Amino acid sequence: MQDAPLTIGRIVDHGTGLYSSSEVITWTGAEPRRETYGQTGRKAAQLAHALRDLGVTGDQRVGTFMWNNAEHLQAYLAVPAMGAVLHTLNLRLFPEQLTYITNHAADHVVIVDASLAPLFARVLPTFETVKHVVVANGPVEALEAPAGVEVHSYEQLLAGRPERFEWPEIDERQAAAMCYTSGTTGNPKGVVYSHRSIYLHSMQVCMSDSMNLAGSDKALLIVPQFHAMSWGLPYASMMVGASMLMPDRFLQPEPIAAMIEAEKPTFAGAVPTIWQGLLAYLEANPKDLSSLRDVVVGGSACPPALMHAFNDRYGVHITHAWGMTETSPLGSVARPPAGVTGDEEWVYRYTQGRPPASVECRLIDDDGNEVPWDGESVGELEVRGPWIAASYHRQDEDGEGAEKFRDGWLRTGDVGAFTPDGYLKLTDRSKDVIKSGGEWISSVELENQVMAHPAVAEAAVVGIPDEKWDERPLVAVVLREGQTVEPEELREFLTDKVARWQVPENFTYIEEVPKTSVGKFDKKRIRAAYAEGQLD
Ligand code: ADP
Repeated sequence: MQDAPLTIGRIVDHGTGLYSSSEVITWTGAEPRRETYGQTGRKAAQLAHALRDLGVTGDQRVGTFMWNNAEHLQAYLAVPAMGAVLHTLNLRLFPEQLTYITNHAADHVVIVDASLAPLFARVLPTFETVKHVVVANGPVEALEAPAGVEVHSYEQLLAGRPERFEWPEIDERQAAAMCYTSGTTGNPKGVVYSHRSIYLHSMQVCMSDSMNLAGSDKALLIVPQFHAMSWGLPYASMMVGASMLMPDRFLQPEPIAAMIEAEKPTFAGAVPTIWQGLLAYLEANPKDLSSLRDVVVGGSACPPALMHAFNDRYGVHITHAWGMTETSPLGSVARPPAGVTGDEEWVYRYTQGRPPASVECRLIDDDGNEVPWDGESVGELEVRGPWIAASYHRQDEDGEGAEKFRDGWLRTGDVGAFTPDGYLKLTDRSKDVIKSGGEWISSVELENQVMAHPAVAEAAVVGIPDEKWDERPLVAVVLREGQTVEPEELREFLTDKVARWQVPENFTYIEEVPKTSVGKFDKKRIRAAYAEGQLD
């Protein structure tokens, strides 16, 4: 067989050439901006020429500080295809984390959305390696540059440049993109994706038992391009010609509902909290969601109540999936096995799903032994495969995160069991498991059960110190608008759903569950609020 390198340049040429009329639609709050894949390809070529002129050579890093939009997609294509490395900056990180990751990655150029310029301006003076900032989608005056940094307008920088770029020949194992993940301890860790890993991962995303993305789809990319590469959806869409609907900064339930109704996407991907918010909004503002044939939900456990609500009220099929920044992120997808129908199907759909051939999994117990796949035995999930990180960026120098890798396997920090036919049932993140009287309580299981109560909008469960039992669960409840429910009623509701000793005694009512930079429940903040006596 021929040995053709698996590169982003190939995806770009193929996608923008063969599917030149597929669309990239960016939501603006008013008339959406529309461009064809053909135009995206030409702009990506112009961007690559512009970046060369700004001195981007070799595997230099080009950062992005952007929402999901057409220009961010152009950077996704141009930067890796020209041989440089795309570094997506998570705009919701704390300033000191942004400083750390930009300096750690040594970004040379950063492309910034004008709407984010004020936020960016605060951290820019702390960036040691950034020489150029390119402002997209708004006036360049939005940003004042410190000495030694040149500010350019994205539109002016591209104007008049050649609309073709001969992408260089690239070793498929070369770095293409990178994304930092919020480390629970220490500094954020940089995950570097290769051309090969992205190419193979994109093919997997399109496989029917995975996300099943096809040329006939219009994909709503809610999961940010700075969060695990928008789950690989931009490259996968480009590979098959699926049109992309980009929400830009309009991530609240109201505009999300409006864009679904107006643009009729067939597919969408986002973390559970986005869908919880949408569900609450739709109660008072019903909308037609019938265009959605499949919605992939992952990033944290998808509550079964959420899946049922969308299924029953809106006819929307939610597919549960598991992954991490370190796994590109696709790790497993919950498609029920052949021949299973009706209620039995749900049993499989609640799980985190089955891994594809390229993601090998094992479960390891506290003594370092492999545990059997019997649906019961619990261990820490470890994975390996061609799109799983082997180490973190510059780990050799600073040793940061080395404990996450063992004998060529990635230690996920997730705890759960596998059924004999390979369905993953995660109980918790190891740091969130509640140890009560020597037994484990799954915070996720309790959350799912509490969230099934009709008066509850959201519920987060954390372990709090307890003299007798070591730890006991505390349930932080967010009520649905206009609803109330007393702790005693919730305890009653839980009695036939979880073991008696797991039924919590401690409840607190809060306005909103605090969220992390990627929209997950921030349990660290709930624990801290409790420790500081801020919760009743
Ligand atoms: P962060 O660590 O900042 O949350 P990631 O998005 O990489 O960034 O997080 C990956 C983690 O998210 C996984 O290790 C797991 O704990 C959690 N996760 C992802 N998908 C699921 C899921 N379907 N069910 C439960 N947990 C999930």
